[in-house]
Amino acid sequence: MRPAHPYAGRRAVLATMHGKEAAIRAPFRDGLGLDVTTPDHIDTDVFGTFTGEIRREKGIKETAVAKARLGMALTGLSIGIASEGSFGPHPEIPIIAADMELMVLIDDERGVVLSEALISEETNFAHIEIEPDSEMDAFLARVKFPDHGLIVAPNMPTHSEWSFIKGIVEKAQLMEAVKAAARHSSDGMAFVQTDMRAHLNPSRMCVLEKLAEQLVDRLKMLCPSCDAPGFGRLDVQRGLPCGYCGTPTRWVKAEIFGCESCGLRETRDRSDGVQVAKQENCPACNP
Ligand SMILES: [Zn+2]
Ligand SMILES: [Zn+2]
Repeated sequence: MRPAHPYAGRRAVLATMHGKEAAIRAPFRDGLGLDVTTPDHIDTDVFGTFTGEIRREKGIKETAVAKARLGMALTGLSIGIASEGSFGPHPEIPIIAADMELMVLIDDERGVVLSEALISEETNFAHIEIEPDSEMDAFLARVKFPDHGLIVAPNMPTHSEWSFIKGIVEKAQLMEAVKAAARHSSDGMAFVQTDMRAHLNPSRMCVLEKLAEQLVDRLKMLCPSCDAPGFGRLDVQRGLPCGYCGTPTRWVKAEIFGCESCGLRETRDRSDGVQVAKQENCPACNP
């Protein structure tokens, strides 16, 4: 029998106030035997909100780490998990919207901070500027309302103390919110946007579940030296030699695997078996 994973039977805290445990608990339980719990009271909005009332001061990874650390401080657990998302044009296909998610796991016993990232086009991220009582069925279908929530605000707010109406999941409520917001907008229009908070966005929950599975797969790999979870590819080494003249190219030559806990590093040949670069990619043969 295989020895149990080091996290089997352990508890970890997931820092969320938006129900992310619905997507994240099962992969960690089924894959590692790790029990993911959430703190009773945690305010992750202090690290920034999607609607911008509170700006995210730090980078995505730093923010996720800070959230996980807050969860660990509240519960006293030594393993913490958190995720952070951002939405916008797809980095490779800018005409479509993308959900960019990052998930971190901190293990203070082993001194490890692991992160995995995922970019998905499976998102309803969108917005519209509309007048009250105007036709918006096509938009509502596209953003998968009412299974997915919406947020309404004045398009051009006439005063600064207006607050967003969030978490709208009913048509009547939406129509009222649009009317109210338009009254407080100098152009008479409301700004309707998708609510990207996980508990109101099943599309995002699916992406988070996939990312949790990806992080679990990484954690299944144990360090050959110290047994810490999360042994994996940390970097690449460039300089794949030209197949004709041997000159190093900018193509990847080797992959560097390692363990963040004990510092072990292993240089491995490319996993696809490619050993030389094509002559057309060589700076000497094809400058
Ligand atoms: Zn060459
Ligand atoms: Zn190690």
